[in-house]
Amino acid sequence: MNTKPIVAGNWKMNKSGEEGVSFVGKIKNRILDKAEAKVIFCPPFTSLFSIVKTLNGTDFGVGAQNAHFEVEGAYTGEISVGMLKSTGVQYVILGHSERRHIFGETDVWINKKIHAVLNAELVPIFCIGETLDDRKSNQTTQVLENQINLGLQGMDSIDPVKMIIAYEPVWAIGTGETASSDQVARAHGYVQSILERMFGQIAHEVPILYGGSVNENNATELIQTDGVDGFLVGGASLKEESFCGIVEQVSKFYKR
Ligand code: PEP
Repeated sequence: MNTKPIVAGNWKMNKSGEEGVSFVGKIKNRILDKAEAKVIFCPPFTSLFSIVKTLNGTDFGVGAQNAHFEVEGAYTGEISVGMLKSTGVQYVILGHSERRHIFGETDVWINKKIHAVLNAELVPIFCIGETLDDRKSNQTTQVLENQINLGLQGMDSIDPVKMIIAYEPVWAIGTGETASSDQVARAHGYVQSILERMFGQIAHEVPILYGGSVNENNATELIQTDGVDGFLVGGASLKEESFCGIVEQVSKFYKR
């Protein structure tokens, strides 16, 4: 298992193919051989082939931001896991809050997608997290438990180390508002206890990332927070200085 901390950049719907290749090229030159972290780029679908090619032979990972669970068929606008695999990606983000809240993805769909991604021997980056209303009404733990139970239904016999969990409180995504260390530590501890109940001691090997307005100014504190194995980064993953700053701090301060 990769025991390095993980820094995954979710570009969302940003950067053209050319911009993406030029961006990863610069980051590669700057941090290759220096990063003590597993760095994963998650560009839009249209850039996957070219970015995989640019990073060929390096330890950088590439992931997609979504996938459909069916193998093929009449699903206009969708992309199957097999198609993604053929681009050379190793990871797929699933259950991102923007997919859940803007596009109405349900836990049942997310569960099917996780099954499909694991069956293809790709690694799901399974996102969970509560809304502000959930937090204000003390529903955080219940929401996390439901998302995990439903998202991982039927997976008791899988090797959980083949997945990554990302705890991303919805109220902290793209808002500039970061969860406090205490809130993050509690949520990560809770997620780990649910995973332990499901999978036993091996659950401690499942990386749990934090996501929500991570940047070069808060990365040092957050990476030293109990239970944090790395970050899923949105906005700050689009800027060279910010992203490299995060990777440098994670490389320096991570302690599992
Ligand atoms: C995300 O989109 O997963 C995310 C965490 O975004 P941001 O870092 O911009 O809050």
